[in-house]
Amino acid sequence: MRNRIFLSPPHLSGEEIKEIEKAIQSNWIAPAGPATAAFERKIAQYNGVEHCVAVNSGTAAIHLALVVLGVEKGDEVICPTFTFAGSCYPILYQSATPVLVDSEKEGWGIDPKLMDEAIADRIRLGKKPKAIIVVHLFGMPARMNEIMAIAKKYSIPVIEDAAEALGSTYAGKHAGSMGDIGIYSFNGNKIITTSGGGALVSSKKEWVEQARYLSGQAKSPVPYYHHETIGFNYQLSNISSAMGVAQFSVLDERIREKRKVFDFYKSTLTNHGFGFQKEDEVSFSNRWITSVLTPNYSTDNSNNKIRLELEHENIEARLLWKPMHLQPVFNKFPFYDSGVAEDLFSRGLCLPSGTSLTEADQKLITSKLIKN
Ligand SMILES: *Cc1c(COP(=O)(O)O)cnc(C)c1O
Repeated sequence: MRNRIFLSPPHLSGEEIKEIEKAIQSNWIAPAGPATAAFERKIAQYNGVEHCVAVNSGTAAIHLALVVLGVEKGDEVICPTFTFAGSCYPILYQSATPVLVDSEKEGWGIDPKLMDEAIADRIRLGKKPKAIIVVHLFGMPARMNEIMAIAKKYSIPVIEDAAEALGSTYAGKHAGSMGDIGIYSFNGNKIITTSGGGALVSSKKEWVEQARYLSGQAKSPVPYYHHETIGFNYQLSNISSAMGVAQFSVLDERIREKRKVFDFYKSTLTNHGFGFQKEDEVSFSNRWITSVLTPNYSTDNSNNKIRLELEHENIEARLLWKPMHLQPVFNKFPFYDSGVAEDLFSRGLCLPSGTSLTEADQKLITSKLIKN
């Protein structure tokens, strides 16, 4: 049988091995090194943000963002229910409380209007949320103009989880560059990868330097180990960074390829009643993973039925994120509900979106969807 078709496998350029070899030859292995500094500069420059610290995962970057913003035990943090758990686990690392908000129907990001209502309600109940986490889902920018206006109205800082959205833009600005702090992931399934890694960016130098200090075990600048606060071992190794430097050179090409994969699915499946995440007039998605909604005429669980048929052909597909308010670990927290996330979960399917997918693969995949 032919090789398995994965959802979003790593796609190397061939240059990674050279950069890694340079790092090994120079004996800069870990924790920091010239490749990490170069990788940080590339991330900052590409996204038009002044400061960047590379860390060993996107989840670590979100955790550091919360710590830097002073989120502590008992604080509340706004977060979309429709996301990957990595977006909101760090709220629990700080013993803070996630306040979950439902999605809007077009781009599937946090619903700005409902978010506004949720914040007003939390304030009425006696506590202003300490931060807002916004997620650009499957690469689609959340409605940042509205979200930032609401955040400004209440003076609440915004963390942009752009783990899936490197290269996406909103009104000409890069995902991750619009909030107070942005984060990226370079996990193996993301649009470019360091095998595992992440980054935190901000135009505020103190925050990035504080995150850097915390990521390196919070060592004070004295000749012995002196610690005034709790640190973390979150640094990205110089070898991983070397891989990231090479991957950056193919990022724009990967975005073009991802969008081409999306265009094929959309042009083939739209006439058969399948729905897609929509860009608005000012958004540009890197289309990290093409996700479809099964048609309204479909029977219950048809998304999973299609998934199983694809699995039978050794093709990986996955249901959309199971909303956080339905997760045993998050279901006791406040939730502002409009029913959208549950509908997306019940009808949605992530399709193989690898940038090395062939047209024949895509035709085989769409044929399985069409007959359902
Ligand atoms: C992948 C991902 C994360 C976590 O990134 P890691 O590097 O895997 O820790 C966080 N949020 C979202 C939306 C993600 O897709």
